[in-house]
Amino acid sequence: MKVGDLIKVKECSIEEEHHWDRDPCDCFFCNYESSRVGVVMEYHAHEIDDDGDIFNECWDVLFDCGIWQVYLSDIASGEISVVSEVKNKNAGVAQW
Ligand SMILES: [Zn+2]
Repeated sequence: MKVGDLIKVKECSIEEEHHWDRDPCDCFFCNYESSRVGVVMEYHAHEIDDDGDIFNECWDVLFDCGIWQVYLSDIASGEISVVSEVKNKNAGVAQW
């Protein structure tokens, strides 16, 4: 995943997992009725600050509802998929 890539966050499966009378999902994306498609803005390498706090490798992604940080674990778990890589800038964009 690189800066400039277009990514998509998987739809929440709360309706499949729960009964219809449950409250709707209130995650960041559902809450703002986001399109779930975002552009990778910035990459942050793994680092440990002066206080010993660990910051895992992550990317800042700009969605229609704001900036959200995406971690490698999100990609590994299939929550995030790359819609269009920056090297194919014009491919796959029109559908959104
Ligand atoms: Zn949700």
